[in-house]
Amino acid sequence: MRQSQYFLKTSKNTPSDDVSINATLLEQGGFVYKNSAGIYSYLPLGWRVVQKIAHIIREEMDGIGGQEMFMPALHDKHYLKATGRWDVDVVFKVNSGDQKEPQFNISWTHEEIMSEIAARYVSSYRDLPFATYQIQTKFRNEARAKSGLLRGREFMMKDLYSFHRDEEDLNRYYEIVRDAYFKIFKRCDLEALYTLAAGGDFTSNYTHEFQVVCPVGEDTIFVCEKCDYAENKEISKLKKGNPCPKCGGVVYEKKSIEVGNIFRYGTKYSEPFNLQFTDEKGQRKFVQSGAYGIGLGRVMGTVVEVSHDSNGIIWPQSLAPFSVHLVSLEPTSPGVHSEAEGLYSSLQRRGIEVLYDDRDLSAGSKFTDSDLIGIPWRLLVSPKTRKAGKLEVKNRKTGKIELVPADLETVSKLIR
Ligand code: ATP
Ligand code: MG
Repeated sequence: MRQSQYFLKTSKNTPSDDVSINATLLEQGGFVYKNSAGIYSYLPLGWRVVQKIAHIIREEMDGIGGQEMFMPALHDKHYLKATGRWDVDVVFKVNSGDQKEPQFNISWTHEEIMSEIAARYVSSYRDLPFATYQIQTKFRNEARAKSGLLRGREFMMKDLYSFHRDEEDLNRYYEIVRDAYFKIFKRCDLEALYTLAAGGDFTSNYTHEFQVVCPVGEDTIFVCEKCDYAENKEISKLKKGNPCPKCGGVVYEKKSIEVGNIFRYGTKYSEPFNLQFTDEKGQRKFVQSGAYGIGLGRVMGTVVEVSHDSNGIIWPQSLAPFSVHLVSLEPTSPGVHSEAEGLYSSLQRRGIEVLYDDRDLSAGSKFTDSDLIGIPWRLLVSPKTRKAGKLEVKNRKTGKIELVPADLETVSKLIR
């Protein structure tokens, strides 16, 4: 992608009412545009990052038998009425111009929708177990939508729902999902702690949250220094300095961000929708279900919170919008221009995602932009590097700059 033609404008402005690091850097870097508090547009550069996160999630969900589908955002009120959730405070309700009373709500979660669908298609034990997921938009009127992508009033969530004949099978799958979640967060370069937590709105059971330690997090957890055992302070009887209930190590108190949450509902959502099956003995039983969420924007915001420096974002290779930032200095000087153009086409032919800064700007502003955007590798072509017959490579994370032979083999080896 040629930067001169890309819909990408960086800016030095800091958002006025949002002081979070992720909002600041993502807006300055041209990844997102804030339309209203907690409501964002993803610009082309930011959308590439979201797609990387979505791709990782899809691979891991497909890997545990999840089947992708897509459910509506507009929900008739009978759904939430059936579970007593119509009057939950964060739910947005809507009515059309000719209706006085709201007839619908817009999606804040999909347990009701999915349970009703399942009830239509499940009849026998042979139809179980199965798991479906979607990546879809949720709307919640959050009171504190002031931390950028971490807490949106509109946000993308991956929600997986699983259906089982008994608790044992639900428990088996719960652990499979847990392991898949660890893989997802690891691939996003996040160290997530598996944390015992309350059910929030869903009180039937303990749940588990995936928490990333971070000073701006809204959650507080107790975490063992030795074995990483963690409990959310909301439900914990622990105090800082206590021995870990699992290994006896010392427990610390930390701020953290919840990037994922997994729930076992039992029959909580099967009963209101009469989601039953017939077992081998001809007995009718309620289906056991679980739900498992990850916020895509929250993952993106969390990565920025834990991986940046005073110059900008430092993307992990797996989520970077491009693998390489090719920058040419003095692109009007003929030698530089042709070398950079050549390198650009050969990187593209190799299938390497490259953003090519072909703009005629000062070195200073190009470097500032490059550091802000945070692509892992910067390749520089300049009159100086040409004279040396080399390329200059900068590693965004370590800051290390070196001259390497100006050939594609060296470059592709370096960035793998
Ligand atoms: P929180 O406790 O942070 O309000 P929650 O427990 O209500 O979240 P869930 O319904 O469990 O959220 O949602 C599953 C996942 O969706 C969360 O783990 C988080 O990654 C993401 N998520 C939830 N609310 C938001 C939001 N307002 N903005 C962005 N992501 C969110
Ligand atoms: Mg939660």
